[in-house]
Amino acid sequence: GREWHLAARPQGWPTPDDFVLVEAPVRQPEAGEILVRNAFLSVDPYMRGRMNDVKSYIPPFQVGQVMDGGAVGYVVASAAEGFEVGDAVLHGLGWREYATVGAAHAVKVDPELAPLSAYLGVLGMPGLTAYAGLLEVGALKEGDTVFVSGAAGAVGSLVGQIARLKGAKRVIGSAGSAEKVAKLVDEYGFDAAFNYKDGPVRDLLAEAAPDGIDLYFDNVGGDHLEAAIGALGVKGRAVLCGAIAQYNDTEPPVGPRNLALAIGKRLRLEGLLVGDHYGLQPQFVAETAGWLRSGELKGDETVVEGIENAGDAFIGLLRGANTGKMVVRL
Ligand code: NDP
Repeated sequence: GREWHLAARPQGWPTPDDFVLVEAPVRQPEAGEILVRNAFLSVDPYMRGRMNDVKSYIPPFQVGQVMDGGAVGYVVASAAEGFEVGDAVLHGLGWREYATVGAAHAVKVDPELAPLSAYLGVLGMPGLTAYAGLLEVGALKEGDTVFVSGAAGAVGSLVGQIARLKGAKRVIGSAGSAEKVAKLVDEYGFDAAFNYKDGPVRDLLAEAAPDGIDLYFDNVGGDHLEAAIGALGVKGRAVLCGAIAQYNDTEPPVGPRNLALAIGKRLRLEGLLVGDHYGLQPQFVAETAGWLRSGELKGDETVVEGIENAGDAFIGLLRGANTGKMVVRL
């Protein structure tokens, strides 16, 4: 089977030369393992951090070795109790066609409940990030005015829609193109949205939220976070989920320059790691599956075809080529 190896550590923006697709032998499962034919691979922003040789909450990829990440597929051989050939599973050995997975690290998923790729997106890690970040970390209350950046992406599009479903008074989003902005308002039910490339974020946000905001869900960092700190009211909350504007920076970021405003406003800025919130998984899946069934929530995807295009899909994700969750279909 084919698999992607990290060929070089990028300096700044990753390029296609940083990845190489390699033919590798398929190892048959030993006791307690299953062999999975992957059907969809996930590409996610956090993988950019794993390309750097730095200590983090998740270890770095190694040059010359296969990368990993979320994947869903079908069991083609099983030496593990409870797994049959044909079962659909979610696991962590993506970036390859065939994965030999310890059964303890695979979860059976129901392809009848939702298309398989949904378990990488709306019903998977990004969905839980949005749900737990908004409800548990952000403590969303009815009547809140909510602002989310990266609002047309996997996490952001769900944050905005869940905020609306949970009684936010006003939901505002930012994204990087006119098409995405139109989609936020027309399809996802945002009350207002802007293209952050149209001017200073501070001005665009002031226009979209003339009365300020109560809760900011940050996927972007930088000028977005600075603008949100300016717009948050007294006792405002910011959920720090991601800082994608900085992931390819070669210099340490500057700012937010107005952080001292957090004192007088008694703001709460709290980091979110989805891994802390798997206790919420059953409630999240049940509630989200209900919203999908009723049509109240959309889990859009951008599907790139073919394992040979996974590197390009990842680079495209960092550049905004996706609306909703970016996945690769094998
Ligand atoms: P997305 O689907 O949102 O894809 C990334 C998007 O980021 C692109 O589509 C692009 O959209 C946008 N983007 C890229 N560069 C910039 C920039 N300079 N300024 C503003 N937007 C930019 O990815 P995810 O939904 O998977 O992830 C969203 C965020 O959440 C990321 O920061 C990620 O790291 C974080 N995350 C954190 C988790 C946690 O546990 N803390 C878990 C999962 C995700 P556009 O066209 O709008 O620019």
